[in-house]
Amino acid sequence: MKKIILLPPELSAKIAAGEVIERPFSVVKELVENSLDAGASEVRVHLERGGKKLIRVMDNGEGMSPEDAEICFERHATSKIAEEADLEKIETLGFRGEALPSISAVSRVTLKTSRGAGAGFLVEREGNQTVRMGDTAFPRGTSVEVRDLFFNLPARRKFLRSEKSELFQVVRFLNRLALAFPQTRFSLSHGSRRIFDYPGVAQLRERIFQVFGKEALERLMALDFAEETTRISGFVSRPLQGRRNRSRQFIFVNGRPVQDKTIQAALNQTFQGYLEKDRVPEAILFVSMPAAHVDVNVHPTKAEIRFRDAGAVFHAVRLGLLHALTRASHAKSVRSSLSVPAGSEASAPPAQRFPARGRLAAPKPQPEVREEWLPAFEGEGEGLRVFGQYQKTFILASDDRGLLVIDQHNAHERVLYEKYADIDRKKDWPRKMALFPAVIDLTPAQALSYESNQGLLEEVGYRVEDMGGRSFALKEYPDIFSQDEAQEVFLSLLDEMREDKAADKKKKILAELACRTAVKAGQVLSSSRMKYLVEELFRTSKASVCPHGRPILLRLEKDAIEKAIGRKSRSPRKTTKKL
Ligand code: ADP
Ligand code: MG
Repeated sequence: MKKIILLPPELSAKIAAGEVIERPFSVVKELVENSLDAGASEVRVHLERGGKKLIRVMDNGEGMSPEDAEICFERHATSKIAEEADLEKIETLGFRGEALPSISAVSRVTLKTSRGAGAGFLVEREGNQTVRMGDTAFPRGTSVEVRDLFFNLPARRKFLRSEKSELFQVVRFLNRLALAFPQTRFSLSHGSRRIFDYPGVAQLRERIFQVFGKEALERLMALDFAEETTRISGFVSRPLQGRRNRSRQFIFVNGRPVQDKTIQAALNQTFQGYLEKDRVPEAILFVSMPAAHVDVNVHPTKAEIRFRDAGAVFHAVRLGLLHALTRASHAKSVRSSLSVPAGSEASAPPAQRFPARGRLAAPKPQPEVREEWLPAFEGEGEGLRVFGQYQKTFILASDDRGLLVIDQHNAHERVLYEKYADIDRKKDWPRKMALFPAVIDLTPAQALSYESNQGLLEEVGYRVEDMGGRSFALKEYPDIFSQDEAQEVFLSLLDEMREDKAADKKKKILAELACRTAVKAGQVLSSSRMKYLVEELFRTSKASVCPHGRPILLRLEKDAIEKAIGRKSRSPRKTTKKL
């Protein structure tokens, strides 16, 4: 009996569309890439209801002739490659001829386009059928309107997230692309709101300023380096800067935003030793090489690529980064070792320019300096003993079961996390009012994150006032921080809690507050502090993992110690030995 049938074209079109179009962001991605391929210097994106109701991308690129506008919705219709050899040298963002047919298979599309001379042309599609076609007035360029995404694919529609969350992904994508094309103007509006408008600029530096603001730029250094046929350029963290997560690592290969493990690894490995522990570099990194050295046709949405020689790319990126890092470190040490010319007023050391003000200038209390190995003392209860601190990072202790090596930061984080969770349950956060509220400029992404998380942030003591634009005044903050810390934590919270569910977000906030207020590795602890910490740790519900999921302690069981050192018989045979 015959089991195999050919699927009807509407169904196979929907299946194929599923690979490329997953959510509003994927539509924006494909349309904006087309605009850039068409040489647009202006791309305007407008969304309604997070793109679920409407997505419109309008550009001033080269436009299409009526003939092309008619055929562009056919599968594998493309103007970007013509023969197999072209796959070796792709210089456009698109080339598969799949985006427009995929989009139109799962939505209602109106395309308007014009090549400048004469009238424009309009095509209206609905789920892969052309429903209207004809002349229309339109300036040079193209506009594609996509309505009711997945109207004919309810299973997919159900997987769409909240409007904010969909919008957020679009913002993140457009920011990424905006970094790759500084000369292009990008704007985004949502309903009646303008989210951003970045006019075209000459330099990447200026685009970074538009997207991430002045502070971000101050943390970065430029690099430009060539190794054989590979060039590495862009901006990366200065030594000792860096962030807690990888959300600000952008990698572009031949101008195309990509997720690439090789380059990511080179980036993160090279920065080890140049950043504090737990920090990762920021990077807006452009890697370029001859088109034939990279295969971009390995992923339906082209997010991943393959190098002909990944080892060589890794090496080149590492070299480029090392070059910039050593130069920066060198510059710093040269600056600090420059001697001050004698007798020069203006360059006198600060102490001389600001004379001591008698008793007001009380000496700062000096931190206790101790040996790495602190004196032993006995703790109380449950056989718990604390011996001391090792490497200013670990607390050495023992309990009935054996020896313990406890990470002081992770342990304190766990203790504080539970304390904060308790405060939070009682809705009892201590707040401090800022005497002179700091004004913070948020990035578009942070401003959106603030909007959707305002309630949660207020619950833990943050109150900010909208000053117009994306400026906010920090009026009140949790009374566990100094004002500066509070501001820094506020920004990193906005960066970190974007799309999670509310309950996860609260956990994240509490974990972040705990992390920020916990003792750090490298901090010397007094005996009583250590004792307190260990006792508190064992009172918590989960003494072995910190709120971020990292282990807190290493346990050496008594039995294992005895066995390893040979105090206990290894096998029953031993006990039968003759005396
Ligand atoms: P691809 O980009 O892979 O070629 P698409 O389905 O995205 O495939 O687009 C099909 C073709 O339609 C493109 O090759 C291009 O010729 C034309 N096209 C699409 N969008 C635009 C636009 N905004 N401006 C000019 N031409 C466009
Ligand atoms: Mg395309």
